[in-house]
Amino acid sequence: MDPHRVILGEADLEGHNTDWLGMVRGASKVLLKPRNTEEVSTILKYCNDRRLAVCPQGGNTGLVGGSVPVFDEIIISTSLMTEIESVDRLSGVITCQSGCVLEALDQYAAEYGLMVPLDLGAKGSCHIGGNVSTNAGGLRVLRYGSLHGSVLGVEAVLASGEIVNCLSAMKKDNTGYDLKHLFIGSEGTLGIITKIAINCPPRPQAVNLSFLGLQTFDDVLTTFREAKDKLGEILSSCEFIDSSSMQCVEENLKLKPPIEPHPFYMLIETSGSNSSHDEEKLSSFLDYALGSGIVTDGTVATEPSRMQHIWSLRERIAEALVKDGYTYKYDISLPHSEFYKMVEDMRNHLGTGVIRCCGYGHIGDGNLHLNITTQEFDKNVLNQIEPAVYEWTAKVNGSVSAEHGLGFKKRNFMHYSKSLGAINLMKQLKSLMDPNGILNPYKVLPET
Ligand SMILES: Cc1cc2nc3c(=O)[nH]c(=O)nc-3n(C[C@H](O)[C@H](O)[C@H](O)COP(=O)(O)OP(=O)(O)OC[C@H]3O[C@@H](n4cnc5c(N)ncnc54)[C@H](O)[C@@H]3O)c2cc1C
Repeated sequence: MDPHRVILGEADLEGHNTDWLGMVRGASKVLLKPRNTEEVSTILKYCNDRRLAVCPQGGNTGLVGGSVPVFDEIIISTSLMTEIESVDRLSGVITCQSGCVLEALDQYAAEYGLMVPLDLGAKGSCHIGGNVSTNAGGLRVLRYGSLHGSVLGVEAVLASGEIVNCLSAMKKDNTGYDLKHLFIGSEGTLGIITKIAINCPPRPQAVNLSFLGLQTFDDVLTTFREAKDKLGEILSSCEFIDSSSMQCVEENLKLKPPIEPHPFYMLIETSGSNSSHDEEKLSSFLDYALGSGIVTDGTVATEPSRMQHIWSLRERIAEALVKDGYTYKYDISLPHSEFYKMVEDMRNHLGTGVIRCCGYGHIGDGNLHLNITTQEFDKNVLNQIEPAVYEWTAKVNGSVSAEHGLGFKKRNFMHYSKSLGAINLMKQLKSLMDPNGILNPYKVLPET
């Protein structure tokens, strides 16, 4: 392999050994950059024959310590696998290698009047292969569903080096077990994804973004319900931010919200094909929301730069929190009725021993990002949060990992959301597909 594609220097490896949050650090001595499926296959066969563990890495934006080695696993980076193989303008299917950066892939899709049905704050760095491997959710699951629906086909390489081609670009394909789903969301523990066929919807012609201020969390839920009823098919995103998260963005990133301070904020986006129709629907929804008092202030943006500013208030919260020092991060699914009680209970439970305890997230999907910060890591604070946060989630039948996955940090909490029978079946699948346990060890599955 060309020496530029074999990285050995400690300094060059530093960024690949450390996760985005700067909390999980491995000690790999080698990073390899294959260019195609055959090279991935050769590397994995070599490693499997010699029982050498590997850690697949995309953009390294994962938030659960799954993308960095735990010890000295060989890092296999998809950063050079950026080829787009085909675009079918009529069906909307794009087939590409797994190292395409999400934002670049979306810009490419735009040239054909299409959009990648996935958007998240890390879009400028994350790879589509990393997205599929984590079954990333993001800002538009409400409209386009999860990647289990949008990804039509996957090509992956097993630990043995065997290439499994499930790269169907057909929207309907019921020939046997749908094996691609095993790779979607398995975080590099069952195979390395090398190619993806993804269904891309038409790019909307008209997009509006409203930023709303609300007094109570009950008003947030009522506004969401009204938005679903009154905006119907044009509702494309519904996000929520509490005042503590907004204060963090203001203090740490010096960004300003476009309205006066409120206890809660919502971002409601519409996307459609007819701007006057969409604007009429949105303004009748806003008239109702402001008139009935469930929303007390709001503004609407249609120009890209204003929309971008408003989105940055939501998308850059994770970055702002990091600047507090240490972040205890929880990504949970909860029934809407319990959604914000979790933040309030945790805030009362922790008292003044933390900088902030805040909540934001994908309210449209029932996905809360609960974040607590301290100046530096504090074991006592961690013991106060865990396992209480997981017990609380399990009690209301929520999920301890909504969209970020389990990686290294959350794997021992899987039993709060999955039955013993399900965990045992996952372990059996792992031993079948990776009998020597070389693929991303110490991730996803709990320690025995
Ligand atoms: C600011 C910010 C905002 C975010 N917002 C969201 C959000 O809204 N929704 C959301 O779901 N996530 C979000 N994330 C988390 C993260 O961006 C996603 O998990 C993303 O999908 C990871 O992609 P990546 O290419 O960076 O993968 P990496 O971080 O490199 O890897 C993630 C996991 O996938 C495995 N992997 C990577 N590539 C492959 C491959 N080709 N084959 C097999 N396994 C592979 C890795 O081993 C690891 O286990 C956010 C992160 C940041 C930093």
